[in-house]
Amino acid sequence: MDLDPQCLFCKIIEGDIPADIVLRTANVLAFRDITPQAPTHILLIPTVHVENAAELAKLSPTLIGELMIAAQEVAKSEGLDGYRTVFNTGASVGQSVFHAHLHLLGGRSFAWPPG
Ligand code: AMP
Repeated sequence: MDLDPQCLFCKIIEGDIPADIVLRTANVLAFRDITPQAPTHILLIPTVHVENAAELAKLSPTLIGELMIAAQEVAKSEGLDGYRTVFNTGASVGQSVFHAHLHLLGGRSFAWPPG
């Protein structure tokens, strides 16, 4: 199945739930996070339903690379000179939506190690 009708992010791909979309390619959709954790906080997702980044990497190393390239393009269009990218993989580290997504964060300073 390409999309899961029960999945929140699949509903955004389908246009059934509104989102502030900043980039759409053949395989990637990027939209602003509804609860931003930084001045720029954008989610980049594959337009195929896959549970997390680990599964996406197995399904298509090319597609997970496309997410990173799209993040770079979006960061440039947002005027960021540096940015942080995060995949949360698993509920134990905070994954709450089980459709693979890359967080792109920027526009403020970030601590390391992350919390
Ligand atoms: P994660 O906790 O890594 O699974 O990230 C899920 C992200 O999705 C969170 O940062 C949420 O704020 C974000 N989110 C949830 N619902 C929406 C929505 N309808 N539109 C945009 N972002 C959302």
